[in-house]
Order: sequence, then structure tokens, then C-alpha cells
Amino acid sequence: MEPHPPHNPSATWSIDTQVKSDKLRLLVQQSYLGLFVSLAVSLLLCWALWDYTDTTILLVWFGVMFLSTLTRAYLYLVHFRPQRNTQETLQHARPYVAALIVSTLIWGVGALFIMPKDSLLGQAFTMFILIGMAGGVLATYSAHRSTAITGMLSILLPVTLWLYFQPSKLHLGMAIGATIFIVVTLRGAKILSDAMHRNFHLGYELQHAYEEANTLSKMDALTGINNRRSFFECGEQISSYCERNNLPLSAIVMDVDHFKRINDTHGHHFGDITLSQIGRILEAEFRKSDVLGRLGGEEFAILLPDTTLNQAQELAEKLRQTIAATPITIKDKQLSITISIGVASGHYDIETLLPHADAAMYQAKSGGRNRTVIASAT
Ligand code: GH3
Ligand code: MG
Ligand code: MG
Repeated sequence: MEPHPPHNPSATWSIDTQVKSDKLRLLVQQSYLGLFVSLAVSLLLCWALWDYTDTTILLVWFGVMFLSTLTRAYLYLVHFRPQRNTQETLQHARPYVAALIVSTLIWGVGALFIMPKDSLLGQAFTMFILIGMAGGVLATYSAHRSTAITGMLSILLPVTLWLYFQPSKLHLGMAIGATIFIVVTLRGAKILSDAMHRNFHLGYELQHAYEEANTLSKMDALTGINNRRSFFECGEQISSYCERNNLPLSAIVMDVDHFKRINDTHGHHFGDITLSQIGRILEAEFRKSDVLGRLGGEEFAILLPDTTLNQAQELAEKLRQTIAATPITIKDKQLSITISIGVASGHYDIETLLPHADAAMYQAKSGGRNRTVIASAT
């Protein structure tokens, strides 16, 4: 079996999705404080403009703002149940992000209505508050660039455009100032969110690479089953499980007969194919709870939890017959192979159990090969 290629498209896809979900989760997490700040600042703005703007307009605007805050708080509580998986996070964050953008629009478009048309001071104060809110949105939501930028633009663009069409130089000055702020922060938001994106990505790539390396370090590359080290690691666990629960444990050790001859006659590649086919047969023949391993060369072992010696013998016989009945084929070459098997039981210590099975397997060899021998009880 070939080692995994370094670039796995499905892994990249899942990393991208995970990063997206992480960014949304961070956005929602960050926005909690923003809920209260937005409401408190809108109250401050209404209070400051009370003598300059029609109070009905102010009250309606504050009412709308209040409702949007309630909606966001509700969505926050719904979204922020723990143990959400990536897909659920993506699904639940969407309405939350939409509500967030709507609330920035209430700021930006609402400001056009509540801004006093005849008080430059009132307009400057409103602009001051909007710039502060836009800065807050950028700082708070920078993990999610599109939300940060859309939010900032929703807050600032309507009033900025309005200012461009006003007659005085002071209005034009404020409009230009706001435009500079928008341009500079757009750039800043891009740099910050790119850096954050790379960080998230790198974190997952490292985790993925670690998991892949970990799997490869436990797997025998040719057969796809446990290598010797991993076989013993898993074997220790399964044997202590059996011992604790008083379950029988059996071991099968098998070796391909005259494998050297197969290599010599048909080539090393044919030998390799033989081994990988044996790996596939073992995986098909045994339960998921059994531990399969290639101990080295053409020697394999299987640990069978909750299996008596008699049951193990039956399984070993079936395996021997299946392998004998499954010829190895490459192109026009076809060859039947046989194996010799030793079976043992009666010990939970694998270092004792396996040598017993191994000794029985050597008896099978000396008894003429292509047979199963049960280890004598000791
Ligand atoms: P016996 O029936 O007594 O087991 O004879 P045998 O020829 O199978 O045993 P022997 O130990 O003499 O030879 C084992 C051969 O297995 C020798 C070695 O070159 C070959 N071998 C070990 N590992 C690999 C491998 O990964 N690929 C291939 N193709 N051959 C291997
Ligand atoms: Mg052999
Ligand atoms: Mg051997």
C-alpha cells in the first residue's frame, strides 16, 4: 500500500469548512459584549440628540434598535449551545450574522433620520458616534472579514454619502475624514483577517499532519494492518480488557509457506502483492475487535478477545482454507499459496501467549506445512 499523498483534497475541504466555522464561532462569541455596547451607545445618542431631533423619530429608532438587540440576544442564546459541530455552527451562525448586519444598517440608515438637519454640532456628534461604532465593529468582528467590512460600511456609508452632498466645507471635511477612515480600516481589516485565517488554517493543517503521521506510524505500509509495534500496543489493551472482564483470549500466528521460493520464482513484487492480499483477507475474515498485525516478513498474528481456543482453531482453519482457495494473480500469473498456523490460549500476557502460538506454528511447519496446530496447554 502506497503512503498517503501529502495533499488530500477532502482534508483541505474539511479544513476550510472548519476554519470557516471557527471564524463564525469567534464572531458570535465576540459579539456578545457588542450587543450591550450598541444598545447603551444608542441610548446615549438619543439622550444627547433629545433637544435637537424630533423625539418621536428618536423613540422609534431606539425601539427598532431595542428589538434588533433582543433578536440578536435570542439568536446568541440559541446559537451558543455547546457541542455544536462544524456543520451546525455554519448553519446557526447564518441568521445570527444576518441579524448583526441588520443592526449595523439600523445604525447607518437610522442615523440619516435621527441626525438633526439644522445643528452642525448634532451632526458632528452623530458622526463621532458612528465612527466609534464602525471602529468597534471592525475590532470586534475582524475574525470574519466579510461581516466586519459589511458592518463597517453599513454604519458609515449612508451618512458619509449624505455629507458629500451638503453645502458647507465642514460637511465636506467630515465626509473626506470618514472616507479616509473607511479606506484605511478596509486595508487594516484585510491584513488582520488574512493573518487570522492563516493562523487558523495552520493550526488545523498541523493537527491533520499529526493525525496522519500518527496513523502511518502505526500502520504497516504494505498490508494496511497494524505494524509490529502497534500490534503489541493494541494487544496489551485488549488483553487487559479480557483479563479485567474474565473473557477468554486467544492468539493466532501464521506464516506463509515457502515464501522465499515465491519471491525467488516470481519476483519480489509478486511477493509484496501476496502480502498485501493476505492483509485484505485478514481484514475481511476477522472482527473489528480482533487485533491484526504483521509481525515481520511474511509472519502475521491475530489476537482474538472473547474467543476460546476451540473457536480460535475454527477461525484459523477457515483462514487457512480461504487463503489456500484465493490464488494471487498478477497479469497472466496466478499462484496459490498456503500458510501454516499456530493457535494458543490460556494466557493474558501476550509476551507468553504469542511465543506459544509461534511454537505451534513451527510445529505446523515441521509437520508438513499448510496446517493448523494448537499449542499444548502449559
Ligand atoms: P517457510 O515455509 O519455512 O516459512 O519458508 P519461507 O521461505 O516462507 O521462510 P523464510 O524465512 O526462509 O523466507 C521468508 C522470506 O520472506 C525471505 C524474505 O526475503 C521474504 N520477505 C520478508 N519480508 C518481505 C517483504 O516485505 N516483501 C517480500 N516480497 N518478501 C519479503
Ligand atoms: Mg514463511
Ligand atoms: Mg517467516
